[in-house]
Amino acid sequence: MYDFSSFIETLNKKPDSFKEALDLVKDDFHIGKIEIKSNDSFERLEYVFDNNYIKNVVMSYVHEGYEYSLYKNSDNHKYDEKELKDIFVLIRMFGLYHNNYILQRRESDREFFSHEVNLPNAKGYLKKVATLIEVFKASNYNSYYINLKGFGFINRLYNYQIGDSAIKYYANKLKEFIDESCEVAGHLGGDNFVAFVKKDRHDEFVKLVTNIRVDLNVNDNKVSINLVGIVGYEGIENDDYNYRSSIPNSAIAFQYAKATKKPIVKLTPDLLGMFMSIKNIEHTFKDELKSGNFVVYYQPKFDIETGKIVGVEALSRWINNGKIVPPSMFIPVLEKNGDIVDLDLYVLENLCKDIHNFRNLGNKIVPASCNLSRKDFECEDLEDRIINIIRKYDVKTEDIVIEVTETTTLEENERLARFINTMWKNGILTSIDDFGIGYSSLSALRDFKVNEIKIDRSFINRDTISESDEIIIGSIIDMAKKLNVDVICEGVETKKQADFLTKLGCFRAQGYYYSKPLPKLEFEDLLTRNRNKFK
Ligand code: C2E
Ligand code: CA
Ligand code: CA
Repeated sequence: MYDFSSFIETLNKKPDSFKEALDLVKDDFHIGKIEIKSNDSFERLEYVFDNNYIKNVVMSYVHEGYEYSLYKNSDNHKYDEKELKDIFVLIRMFGLYHNNYILQRRESDREFFSHEVNLPNAKGYLKKVATLIEVFKASNYNSYYINLKGFGFINRLYNYQIGDSAIKYYANKLKEFIDESCEVAGHLGGDNFVAFVKKDRHDEFVKLVTNIRVDLNVNDNKVSINLVGIVGYEGIENDDYNYRSSIPNSAIAFQYAKATKKPIVKLTPDLLGMFMSIKNIEHTFKDELKSGNFVVYYQPKFDIETGKIVGVEALSRWINNGKIVPPSMFIPVLEKNGDIVDLDLYVLENLCKDIHNFRNLGNKIVPASCNLSRKDFECEDLEDRIINIIRKYDVKTEDIVIEVTETTTLEENERLARFINTMWKNGILTSIDDFGIGYSSLSALRDFKVNEIKIDRSFINRDTISESDEIIIGSIIDMAKKLNVDVICEGVETKKQADFLTKLGCFRAQGYYYSKPLPKLEFEDLLTRNRNKFK
């Protein structure tokens, strides 16, 4: 038998050195061409050693979806039986090595590619960004981070397959836009995308990603929805830009956009500074709290039909270097190390101090509410601390509502049940915030003695409210009424939404349509004006 050892050695050393390995045997076997064809795609590859090869295939071998064919060179050599046996061995070995190589390449591809949506993943994206700024100037680019607004809602309302198909559609539109010769878009998983796009295409790009209409196939019906990207971006100014900053920097701008409910935010040095402070809040929190850098804002609750203020919610703000940091940016950091409970009780304490004044000015602003984090329940004496604060300021227990959110684990649920029960026994009211988006919403109504539910804003805060939303909200409201639980809806931004709620039997609302959260003095002004209107 022919000695294939140097052929094998070559491929073992370098798995892609097919040409080199074949060069070693091409003369002995009179090879004109080796052809590789894939059965399930148009992939085709050939190694030609003699342009005048003879068109009839000498031998083929099919392995794992690939067909490997050997063609003779132009001379008129006749193979004997022994030579044909050796060719048989050769073409098989070639096929096995080639297939092995393909599998390995796919594996390493996966390292750089998000196959679900056909875009590079974070690693592949960064690799391309690094090349782009080497070839072209970094200062020609904007770096974007995009997340789809309210996407969780699509998953909840329909199902994950439909959610996935929406993501794929969105990804495809991004891909179509990108000029691959000098730009790149990537998929970070879920509904998170990144893109590195030429500055002169900014307007065009933003126009695209902030509104992509997609037709979804829901139970054989076509449902059209708008996929709205929330955009954070960095306009790169320096040519010696570190490609590794591209994702975190645009992500900072995005997080700020999300926290402040803006459709698009550009990274500024101020914003970068704010982020550094947020990272540092772990260490500075106690001092910041003592120095009065955390303040309480008040957002009124309204009677939809009369326009009267009927309650208020206390929300925290952190003033950092004269700038207001929204809670969704610093709360997660405080939750990590358990400091959040001190902030929440500080807010409650301020509310208790202010409530007497509010009562003197306004209509009926009680019960007034403040928020607890799920993390707070890790504090075993939480209940006592709450009760003591309310007593200390001589506030009636039934004038305070504690807003809690649904839990995710059984353990958390038991702790929450204990908490709500203790509040109930002490006459302090409770409310379930963001109601309707958790897994246990309806059973929560049955299992807990809560006084109020707050329907999550995602139910109404969309351009079109479907018939099924209407049925869901309507039945939540009906059920709550039957169980003697008050209902309020948050995030009301338009008159249309308010009308819709009254139609379904919900008569209390909170939202930008009525008033944003206000600093204490402005809220007091509003209370006075609102009272005078109803004199
Ligand atoms: P939340 O308790 O659901 O509070 C309502 C949030 O929605 C507030 O955001 C409010 O400004 C905003 N909002 C009010 N009306 C509208 C509207 O019409 N449209 C839209 N899109 N948004 C509206 P904020 O103050 O940024 O607070 C965000 C979240 O941070 C709160 O959500 C709450 O979960 C948390 N939070 C705020 N303050 C505290 C606090 O003192 N302690 C704890 N644990 N959490 C807090
Ligand atoms: Ca709340
Ligand atoms: Ca809420």
